[in-house]
Amino acid sequence: MTFRNDFEKTEARAERRGGGGRTIALGGGGLGSIVLIGLYLLLGGDPGQLNQLTRGDSSQGAIEQSQTQDNCKTGEDANNSVDCRIEFTGISLDRVWQDQLANQAGIEYTRPKIVLFSGGTSTGCGTASSSTGPFYCPADETAYFDATFFDTLAQMGGGSGPLAQEYVVAHEFGHHIQKLEGTLGRIDYNNPGPESDAVKLELQADCYAGIWAHYADEGPDRILEPLSDEQVSDALETTRAIGDDTIQKHNGGDIQPDLWTHGSSEDRMNSFLAGYKSGQMAQCDTLDRGVYR
Ligand SMILES: [Zn+2]
Repeated sequence: MTFRNDFEKTEARAERRGGGGRTIALGGGGLGSIVLIGLYLLLGGDPGQLNQLTRGDSSQGAIEQSQTQDNCKTGEDANNSVDCRIEFTGISLDRVWQDQLANQAGIEYTRPKIVLFSGGTSTGCGTASSSTGPFYCPADETAYFDATFFDTLAQMGGGSGPLAQEYVVAHEFGHHIQKLEGTLGRIDYNNPGPESDAVKLELQADCYAGIWAHYADEGPDRILEPLSDEQVSDALETTRAIGDDTIQKHNGGDIQPDLWTHGSSEDRMNSFLAGYKSGQMAQCDTLDRGVYR
């Protein structure tokens, strides 16, 4: 449990897509769009690897009509359902960044959209499927999630606790913060490597996720219960599982740092911790901009 059971949302924060004919089957032309989206993938690596990590496209055949309904009303719902947890994490992220982005970077926060989809959906960055993984699309300022990803994450050795999942949402919001800062579009993901700007940007998104966790259970505005050490180590376990070196090992290949786009397991854990312990954007300044208060 992480959310306060008594918290009630006042508006729908996430758009739900799936069932009802809005789902798009991925055709042969889908690959190009996936590569495009792959720039902002949480997992990194090429789409072929991603497809190996997921269990085929079985989720496409199991779309339930009920997923278009909004059954997420209270914190208790968020404690019981992954879909609701993603949405409520978004609400918590809005509250933290509303204050912190203005205080620390002098930038006005605007909310990204959140789309929960099932099977596949079209986005401002091309067509997404369940195997794409969670991602942020800067063109439509939207974070996209298919909850089945969290099963994949657990198979890869990531934590399955609530904060592990919330970290993934917070990481994608981290890319939205970068969009607002004007840094996201400047990065070339086609030049990977441990010292690449792509890795610096991804580690910063992990650090920003840590900043959210730092503030999320504090103050009168908080909608989370105090985080436990166990929950934090569960989130760290997830950052470890999605390090480039660990993913390369998981896929049975050699560790090839020159292909890294997201950073090593150790760097990802340390980045999340740097944000979590300090709550300071200045501690996440991987691009050496020196603009934070
Ligand atoms: Zn990312």
